[in-house]
Amino acid sequence: MKRKEELLTQLDRVIGNCKNCRLWRTASNAVPGEGHAEAVVMFVGEAPGFHEDRQGRPFVGRAGQLLDKLLARVGLRREDVYITNVVKHRPPENRAPNKDEVRTCLPYLLRQIQVVNPKVIVPLGRFALEIFIKDQTISKVHGQLFKANGRLVFPLYHPAAALRSESVLHELEKDFSGLPKVLKGEVKPQVLENRNGDKNQLELF
Ligand code: URA
Repeated sequence: MKRKEELLTQLDRVIGNCKNCRLWRTASNAVPGEGHAEAVVMFVGEAPGFHEDRQGRPFVGRAGQLLDKLLARVGLRREDVYITNVVKHRPPENRAPNKDEVRTCLPYLLRQIQVVNPKVIVPLGRFALEIFIKDQTISKVHGQLFKANGRLVFPLYHPAAALRSESVLHELEKDFSGLPKVLKGEVKPQVLENRNGDKNQLELF
């Protein structure tokens, strides 16, 4: 196995046994993430839902089917990219993860970013956005490319939000169609100063 794959497999194992916050108690399976160890793009959702918890895989429910469809439209398969979440165990009743749960789980995401070293990170929805770009709203920054703490960040609406609203779906489809240009380096990023990220978190990148 190649080095990066090995590191990710080890990390999956650690996440699978993680009891650092309360979420493991109510979850069926950890959902570390999956995809290509050399992916140029990493998608980051909020937290596993019902189906993800059952299968131990990210984005396998309705939101995941939409993500697959959007990927296919730009010529990508989920095996080509890396897909993960901010929080690796499902919060009960799909509640939003608590601040302490995010803090506790964050080192796993940061390690995934460090190992995969994607060219572009795509936070899906406001929750993941907050990790990379502070004090912004997804409705304002979706579909724009930023350079935050040395990383290219291309925030998009969460597919689950697009399933609830036609207009959000339309925006998500439009933004997603811009991904190939972003990956080819044809879009100039807006450079954000460090204050736009949580310094403590992002120093771990
Ligand atoms: N929503 C998320 O944020 N992540 C998943 O894995 C599935 C749904």
